Amino acid sequence: MTSVSEIEIIDALKLRTFGNHYQNIIQGIGDDGAVTSVDPDYHLVTTTDAITEDVHYPKGIEAKAIGHRCLAVNLSDMAAMGAHPLWASLLFSRPSIDQLWLEQFVSGFSDLANKHNVSLIGGDTISGPELFSVTLQGITPKNKFISRNSAKIGDLIYVTGFLGNASQGLKIIQGCKEDDSSEKLIQDFLYPNPRVKESTIISRFATSMIDISDGFFTDIQKVIKASNIGAEIKVSELPISQSLLNHLSRKDAINAALLGGDDYELCFTIPRELKKDFNEEYQSKDRIFITCVGEIKENKLKLIDEDKKEFVLSGQAFEHF
Ligand code: ADP
Ligand code: MG
Repeated sequence: MTSVSEIEIIDALKLRTFGNHYQNIIQGIGDDGAVTSVDPDYHLVTTTDAITEDVHYPKGIEAKAIGHRCLAVNLSDMAAMGAHPLWASLLFSRPSIDQLWLEQFVSGFSDLANKHNVSLIGGDTISGPELFSVTLQGITPKNKFISRNSAKIGDLIYVTGFLGNASQGLKIIQGCKEDDSSEKLIQDFLYPNPRVKESTIISRFATSMIDISDGFFTDIQKVIKASNIGAEIKVSELPISQSLLNHLSRKDAINAALLGGDDYELCFTIPRELKKDFNEEYQSKDRIFITCVGEIKENKLKLIDEDKKEFVLSGQAFEHF
């Protein structure tokens, strides 16, 4: 196993991900800093999200999934802001590295970057504990970004895709029981699909938006707190996949949808009077399905079951510390 130099790491990344997709890159990788320009009628949006072994992914997963993940988590934040991603910087830290591992990491990172026309414009490469941090920059037309603090009473609450698959996929990787649907759940954990193109249309209608990374129940509370409102969630409406139901009872699947992390779906609010227009505009074969799961209310977060009784959660929400 031959180890790889810093220059080789930077060159491998640069070769595959410096796409020059945008003429607004004046100076990319190679100098002390990158230089880009933003049109005066746009706002610049910046996100940073880092991932590290054993906290955000288990030891031993394929390098391709790590390369994918460190960019995907940032694309998901950018999508939640309703912004269009453009430029990424990558802090790359690993104790040692070989050619095969690098090749796989770069392929995971660059496949996703190229899919969304994101250019890698810089970063830093160090020998240290395994950690990957991406700073992503993107743009929105002036004042068109979507915050989490502006949900209004009466708004409908939607989510994209399925909830709970990724957390069960992680459990399977960590040794939980496997069956025919395990592979789907594992892939949903390893390769989260940030809802970038969905965000473009959602952000034309949404009053607020957040991405679901810590679990729906935890993340909707951030919206509630920031917007100073409450919400009623119908747990029977939560989008739960058949793959998840093959592994868990209905009650446990609902708990996974509420508390499980790593979904990287979007949660957003739409004014009731825009529901019809929004649904009509959103329908398209190449967008992930959306589900209305509840409504913004005056105060408190309430989980309601089919019989209109309160749903009692079991389990613990994700805590960063
Ligand atoms: P300096 O010593 O001036 O900080 P480096 O030798 O660390 O510069 O980096 C040289 C160039 O390569 C810089 O343009 C930097 O942004 C880029 N670079 C370094 N590491 C990475 C990385 N992991 N991903 C992308 N670009 C990188
Ligand atoms: Mg320098």
